[in-house]
Amino acid sequence: MFEGLSGRLGDVLEKLRGKGSLSQDDVNEAMREVRVALLEADVALPVVKDFIAKVKTRAVGQEVIQSVTPGQMVIKIVHDALVEMLAGQVGTPDEGEADRDRTAEILNLNVTPPVPILMVGLQGSGKTTTSAKIALRLKTTQRKKVLMASLDVQRPAAQHQLAVLGEQTGVDTLPIIMGQKPVQIAKRAMDEGRKGGYDVVILDTAGRLAIDEELMVEVAEVRKVTNPAETLLVTDAMIGQDAVTVATEFNDRVGITGIVLTRVDGDARGGAALSMRAITGRPIKLMGVGEKMDALEDFQAERIAGRILG
Ligand code: GDP
Repeated sequence: MFEGLSGRLGDVLEKLRGKGSLSQDDVNEAMREVRVALLEADVALPVVKDFIAKVKTRAVGQEVIQSVTPGQMVIKIVHDALVEMLAGQVGTPDEGEADRDRTAEILNLNVTPPVPILMVGLQGSGKTTTSAKIALRLKTTQRKKVLMASLDVQRPAAQHQLAVLGEQTGVDTLPIIMGQKPVQIAKRAMDEGRKGGYDVVILDTAGRLAIDEELMVEVAEVRKVTNPAETLLVTDAMIGQDAVTVATEFNDRVGITGIVLTRVDGDARGGAALSMRAITGRPIKLMGVGEKMDALEDFQAERIAGRILG
């Protein structure tokens, strides 16, 4: 069991009571606890260090407002900095429009159709499920005609899995032709996309259990021939410390435009989100919150920040 940050900071902050402003020592002591909380949430060490440094500069010398305790103030500073670091270029909707559909702001669809969207990530991260969820959302909220194609030639079951999800969601999938290479399938999908008058073509690539050279070369090649408007890295929120390697590799070798965090419905603290966001500089665009096809939400920095702090 982990303690929430406010509980953890209790003793440290008790000492700050009655002070006019936060001193360097007060802040240093409080930040030691924040550091432990972030590490426990599986945020990568270099990211924790950067974050702490940023918050320290912000907190030292802050006047403690009469109406709040110094503890509440430190927590607010930490929370706000975390939200800021997690949030992408797409902010949160204004008050009163929480239900507004923001798909078109979150995903870049502003290229000549068919718009290619490339899904990348490790096997089991939720790529295929997320491909179908995005397709369904584009179909229902944006009235887009979507074609999905599985480029996973390693596991024929993966191609069938996408076809099944296509039937479930009423989204077309590219007919399977055995023996084709991923690049050939990608080209065929784009051809079909043009001929069939599709608005969007979602390309679901193969994943491996760990990153390997062959996978990276293959995905980079697919990206080159299709020139996707979005290349989304799908990662499981429970990935923990591996997030850094996975995000760095995919971003350096393939180039990603955004991240989708899956299994946010699980009990992972979500530190991986902060690591990936900080290390790649790419926004976390969407999050998977269940196995059902409608369990896809816009990324909410507030929600993840709260979980990271515990
Ligand atoms: P892929 O190998 O990356 O294509 O992964 P899949 O899409 O096949 O997903 C692997 C498993 O994770 C499946 O059983 C999915 O139903 C499940 N899954 C995917 N996204 C989520 C999510 O957001 N929440 C939960 N609870 N399960 C998910």
